Amino acid sequence: MSLNRCEQCRRKIRGAPYRSVTGRILCESCGARLQGRTAGLVVGGGAGNAISTAGWFARVRRAMGRGRR
Ligand SMILES: [Zn+2]
Repeated sequence: MSLNRCEQCRRKIRGAPYRSVTGRILCESCGARLQGRTAGLVVGGGAGNAISTAGWFARVRRAMGRGRR
């Protein structure tokens, strides 16, 4: 595996990288921030965006509920 670099802050990622919906590789802090911002978009964004975003958000929530070991 090659070294991952965060596409947001350009820092090298140590540990598990966060992969965004658009396939960008982010560090955990940027990933968490992006997730929060996307959640905000669901509240204030358009209907079409909200629906598609809600789809992946549900997937993320399910994946989080499953937990990583
Ligand atoms: Zn980052």
